Amino acid sequence: MKAYCVETAAIRYNLEKLTRLAGKTPIWAVLKGNGYGLGTGEMAKLCHEAGIRRFCVTEISEAMDIRMQFAQAEILMLRPTTDLGELQQMLDLDVIATISCSAEAAALNSLAGQRGTVAEVHVKVDTGMGRYGFMPHETEKILSVYLHNDNLAVSGIYTHFHSAFCNENAVFAQAETFKGVLNALIKAGVDPGTAHCCNSAAFLRWPELHMGGVRLGSALLGRVLVKADLRRVGRCEATVDEIRWLPTGHSTGYGAAWKARKPTRTAVIPVGWYHGFAVSYGDDIFRIRDCIRAMLRALKNMLRRKKLYVRINGSLCPVLGHVGMLHTVCDITKANCSVGDTAILDINPLQVRGMEIRYQ
Ligand SMILES: *Cc1c(COP(=O)(O)O)cnc(C)c1O
Repeated sequence: MKAYCVETAAIRYNLEKLTRLAGKTPIWAVLKGNGYGLGTGEMAKLCHEAGIRRFCVTEISEAMDIRMQFAQAEILMLRPTTDLGELQQMLDLDVIATISCSAEAAALNSLAGQRGTVAEVHVKVDTGMGRYGFMPHETEKILSVYLHNDNLAVSGIYTHFHSAFCNENAVFAQAETFKGVLNALIKAGVDPGTAHCCNSAAFLRWPELHMGGVRLGSALLGRVLVKADLRRVGRCEATVDEIRWLPTGHSTGYGAAWKARKPTRTAVIPVGWYHGFAVSYGDDIFRIRDCIRAMLRALKNMLRRKKLYVRINGSLCPVLGHVGMLHTVCDITKANCSVGDTAILDINPLQVRGMEIRYQ
């Protein structure tokens, strides 16, 4: 048996905490990447129970998972598109489109015109992320979305921070640029609509940037790179399939990377890198100093030869040798462990595959 277990109580705790921190500011729950790996539909349900009525997605399927449950929810598509099929489905599902350039505005405006409807949209501004969005100086183009597309109704405008977890100056520079765009619109006599810029890290660090809404994804799972009193959601549970004593000199795993220096009791667990275990994902090697830190950590781990653990009955059991595609072997010489016991492995939900997601 193996499953990815999601502690519903922990998500509820995070939602309670986050809604309290947000106060009157509306939260947009970001459920892209199939709800950060946990299922857009299930996550939407928990968010809705916590009073959240606004959602962000990047796929039509995710929008559908939400719309099927909540007819009234506001759903914002974060990924702009000119694909006719997708635009049709977005209109069918009453999804708010992101308008990021004039071509997208024209495509949706014309489609909505053909259908005799008005499509609700948010305008995206590129203040530094370098993907999606009008450039801040393209005031005429932005104004044109508001003023010259009769079948578009702009209800919001947003931008996205690239370094909210690591660079305060960059965040405030982006925020200033964004405010500049808002002011230009106001000066031209246009109501910009709801302005929003914060992701989880920015939300937790700078209340003064909350504006008209905040977009929270990783914080829902308590997996955000800034300090916060949130619970980390998600862990892999797997049954110990086999236990054996390896004699001195015996190896385990490909490349015989580990050899027993003394008789060692080992457990075989049916989870490997295919399932997302020991796949590096979290090393924030964004800056030189992070690279150096990551290298030092790798070196330290190499010297210690036990960077990975599996938890069994409360004991941390070092992983032995290379993690296999579908198996992991760990040292249980000092642990209380029998066949059939449950092993707990730390896997990022975004990396999980080949096992059931189990809410409990
Ligand atoms: C993913 C995403 C978010 C949420 O980011 P987190 O850091 O996970 O909270 C917010 N806004 C946009 C545009 C995104 O793509």
